Amino acid sequence: MTASAESTVTFDGRFARELAELAVPWQAEEAPDPQLLVFNEALAHELGLDPDYLRMPEGVRLLLGNHLPEGATPVAQAYAGHQFGGYSPLLGDGRALLLGEIVDANGRLRDIHLKGSGRTPFARAGDGRAVVGPMLREYLVSEAMHALGIPTTRSLAVVGTGRQVRRDDMLPGAVLARVASSHLRVGSFQYARATDNIELLRRLADHAIARHYPAAAEAENPYLALFKGVVSAQASLVAQWMLVGFVHGVMNTDNMTISGETIDYGPCAFMDAFNPAAVYSSIDVGGRYAYANQPVVAEWNLARLAEAMLPLFNEDQEQAVAPAVEALGEFRKQYSDAWFSGMKTKLGLPEAPAGSPGDAAASELVDGVVALLKDGPVDYTQFFRNLGQAARGNVRPARGMVLDLAAFDAWAGQWLALDPDADLMDSVNPVYIPRNHLVEEALAAATEGDLDPLHRLLQAVNAPYDERPGLERYTEGPPEDFGTYMTFCGT
Ligand code: AMP
Ligand code: MG
Repeated sequence: MTASAESTVTFDGRFARELAELAVPWQAEEAPDPQLLVFNEALAHELGLDPDYLRMPEGVRLLLGNHLPEGATPVAQAYAGHQFGGYSPLLGDGRALLLGEIVDANGRLRDIHLKGSGRTPFARAGDGRAVVGPMLREYLVSEAMHALGIPTTRSLAVVGTGRQVRRDDMLPGAVLARVASSHLRVGSFQYARATDNIELLRRLADHAIARHYPAAAEAENPYLALFKGVVSAQASLVAQWMLVGFVHGVMNTDNMTISGETIDYGPCAFMDAFNPAAVYSSIDVGGRYAYANQPVVAEWNLARLAEAMLPLFNEDQEQAVAPAVEALGEFRKQYSDAWFSGMKTKLGLPEAPAGSPGDAAASELVDGVVALLKDGPVDYTQFFRNLGQAARGNVRPARGMVLDLAAFDAWAGQWLALDPDADLMDSVNPVYIPRNHLVEEALAAATEGDLDPLHRLLQAVNAPYDERPGLERYTEGPPEDFGTYMTFCGT
């Protein structure tokens, strides 16, 4: 086969053009022996890209940034960020590149971005590289999140570079090709604000409005409307994380998007047993990014965004503060509404008008189920799925999971009296999540060259609500000897 469908891929350089101050033109490092490890054919179609071309040697080199269509202007993006609360004025893509934007099959603009593509001027002490395990982890978890219906960056491919990379041991190198509606971060605004170039800050905000919140352009105060849009998107996003038991693990302001997509899967994990204090990252010793802290941290990050955007809200800084505080104040209410409403759906309870007796009863049941979960080690995902069976008349599987049977019976009596909708429950309570022990198993095998466990796990989590025979082991909690799960930032 001759390889030249490359004309089908055209990268725009809109970010690079409109925000040159935040973009350093750069090239990916050559990979000595590229090997396509995993490829997302469905996403390629969605992007209007030719999967057959991308699987060819030349296409694989495109996925590494080593063979780019004419006119592409790959850039490393500059951003700042609060990491674990401490401010770094200059982070940026130390080992990543934005290849450019493409218009997908639905006419939407999508970033094509590489992670692990070599050192850039932002690399500091880093080697600019990434290794197979963590890149496959991002691929797997981001695609699982997407299948769960949660906004996220997507993963198009992971390509092995054929280069050994030094971590604690020598490990096989890889590059992830990531797709996002943009890579604008809270940290992008922090960076622009710190330049004291208000015109740049405004251009960044205009770019964000055009790409993500076009309606804000019509508002009386477009920049305040943009901020409100981000507040709402993040309130909804973090509520969805909480509802599926996802712990992001490193919610630094550079890892929070303006679009409201989940980004930068590092030391992330799904909870097995429900635990508000769940924290998996080896470096998060204080539990700053623990499960139950996520809404608090999101609000804190949004306060940093408001600070960065303040000069845009009003020329008079004094006048800018009050509307910013008011807009930020919406976060708690919107988060709480999204979470309660999601929990009611998880319990199969119909929407009732806020404040009505039905709504009050449902809220009480939500509080009740959380109390049951807190009381003992209860597998969060299995419990809600088993409640679906309880709604169909078989209470035993859910009942058998809790310690306080009397409390369960009292709660279940009230809940069943409301006639929960089991089909509705099954449509929002996943059977399959990327369980930590299965993720580790798949990544360890892949690092040794066996990609079968990864593909099997992907199959399960790509249709998370659809229970299928033969996949029982993907529904189970960790084996007893799995111990306390710990993820490492050694990405
Ligand atoms: P992350 O934890 O992936 O969000 O990355 C935080 C910052 O560290 C970003 O500026 C990354 O570009 C940078 N970084 C992480 N790993 C490396 C690496 N191996 N080489 C260069 N920069 C890196
Ligand atoms: Mg990051």
